[in-house]
Amino acid sequence: MTPPADLAALKSVSARLGADPLRIQGPGGNTSVKEGARMWIKASGTELADAERREIFVEVDLDRMRAAMDADLAEADQPALFAAPGALRPSIETSLHAVFPQRVVLHAHCVDTIALAIRADARAVVASRLGEGFGFAPYVKPGATLAREVRGSGGVEAGVVILGNHGLLVAGESVEAAAAVFERVTRALVAAPAAFAEPDLANLTQLGGSSYAPPPADHPLHGVALSPYHCAAARKGSLYPDHVIFCGVGATALPEGETADALVARLTAAGLAKPPFLLVPGQGALIANDAGASPRALARCLGDVLARVPEGTALTYLTDAQNAELIDWDAEKYRRALNVR
Ligand SMILES: [Zn+2]
Repeated sequence: MTPPADLAALKSVSARLGADPLRIQGPGGNTSVKEGARMWIKASGTELADAERREIFVEVDLDRMRAAMDADLAEADQPALFAAPGALRPSIETSLHAVFPQRVVLHAHCVDTIALAIRADARAVVASRLGEGFGFAPYVKPGATLAREVRGSGGVEAGVVILGNHGLLVAGESVEAAAAVFERVTRALVAAPAAFAEPDLANLTQLGGSSYAPPPADHPLHGVALSPYHCAAARKGSLYPDHVIFCGVGATALPEGETADALVARLTAAGLAKPPFLLVPGQGALIANDAGASPRALARCLGDVLARVPEGTALTYLTDAQNAELIDWDAEKYRRALNVR
């Protein structure tokens, strides 16, 4: 079918969103527009930032997908079954878009939203900012199960749903309407990042050796390592799914007195993966020299999110089972493989 005329406007909004690391990191987030029984949605593994440079949208049979969701069929979690066979698969979050009757849906991983959505009091703190007129869906793995939570969240009609430990979904009848809701909500949820001490780049460079290097002094991940509360919060576990998918579970700290090369040798001998980043408590952060674009984007995201979490805040972490289901997930292996640069 011919795509709707406002797909071009959606591409422009998508590219703008995707270019802002405070709103989208790597291949995260997705946008869609519906026309009758069809929906055009971002393809899995592609980046919103590329929306105007290459084709990132795929057409989905919306009616068939909704019928599968209504009937609780397992196929609802395989959006590729509702698209024409081709090089691109629809996003694994396609079902989240299908539950909205509104034509246009924007889903982003805004760091301001995540900084609230990971709190133990997430629902109450969001309500204190947004008042009425939003829904809250507690964390479950992205896909049809999460779509059911979104449908029952009470926010579909208003077109605003906060996803616990995940991000933001907004909807509107037109691209302009959805973008306006997005701006209103993100403005209400905005948080100023804390200012942390300066990292010691010379010492970090020495500790990094041949495998890691410190990012520039203004990189937000340094602050996480420099603040005891934030460093402990990062090491305790994973706070949202894309972190697990691209950086692994939680964060690894470099033990005092050990170099990064020695740590990597020890991990490799134990059959463990080399972490894409290391926190050096009290000193700053190190990024693996061979880390790809997506792990780098998610390492920055962790710094941006935690800088917006006040010291002492109680947080909700993904459970061991929730971490494991993300790591073993075939759909995500596909997305990760597509995104290797
Ligand atoms: Zn998402």
